[in-house]
Formats: sequence, C-alpha cells, structure tokens
Amino acid sequence: MSQSVTTPEPITASHIRTILSQHGYRITSPRQRIVEQALLHDRPFTAEQLVAELRNHEDGSESNIGRATIYRTLEILASMDVLSRVIQPGGHAAYVVDAPGHRHHLVCSQCSATVAFTSCPIDELVQDLIADTQFQIHDHMLEVFGLCPECQPPTNGT
Ligand SMILES: [Zn+2]
Ligand SMILES: [Zn+2]
Repeated sequence: MSQSVTTPEPITASHIRTILSQHGYRITSPRQRIVEQALLHDRPFTAEQLVAELRNHEDGSESNIGRATIYRTLEILASMDVLSRVIQPGGHAAYVVDAPGHRHHLVCSQCSATVAFTSCPIDELVQDLIADTQFQIHDHMLEVFGLCPECQPPTNGT
C-alpha cells in the first residue's frame, strides 16, 4: 500500500471566509484579522500566542481585538475543522490550520513541524467500543510524535 495519506494542500483565507459564511457566521473585520494571523502559522500555535501577536500591530498601535473574541473565533474555526487541536509533546494544547475534514497529526517533538494525515485508524475501534459500551462517542484524538527529517541526527553512512 503506497497511497499517500498525508495532506499538504494549504487552505486559503477566502476558502475559510466561504466556510464561515456557509455556517452562518458574519465575516467581521476582527474575524478576518484572526483568520489571516492564524494562516501565518505553519506550526501549531496557542490562543495566547495569537492574542500576543494581534495585540501589537506592525505600526505600533494597539489592536482592539479582545482576548475573548480571539478565543471564541478560534473555537468557531476549530468546530468547522479549519483548525485542529493538537497536543504538543509537552502536553499542552495548540491549534494547527487545516483543510476541513477529519485529521490526525504527526508532530515533531523537537521543532513542532506538523504533518496532517486523513486516514483514521480509530474508526473501526470506535464502532466496536460503541457496541461494547453503549457510549455515544463524539470525538477522539490521536497524535503521533517523532522527529521530522530535518531534526534527525545525520547518519554517518557516507
Ligand atoms: Zn523537527
Ligand atoms: Zn480519527
């Protein structure tokens, strides 16, 4: 089986705007700024990181986007799968930008490089768990930690 399961294609701000309005959310200018700021990250970021980045404009003026708005918007984006929550090697939660759809992630424990993959090995297990436990299961998480190619020590094979 050689079919690639990773999904490197990026999502754009306009795609996110479309998804937001399809879900009935207005594209306010704070939301727009939050989306654009989130898209600058190709590594996992925390809500607090985004708060800090959005607080200071490049021109030195104070941002008027409140912390609550940022947290709420990130939650909305996560609920639409535009952002995924990933657990960092240290155990704290972060967000990573994604194309919509069910995702799991490989996370480099050294540099936090993140690769999404769509194949879900849990699906079958979930069906068995429901049958065995009568739980209503609505979510699951799976992160795979390791070292990305960049962070692996050089091999001395040459
Ligand atoms: Zn790495
Ligand atoms: Zn899954």
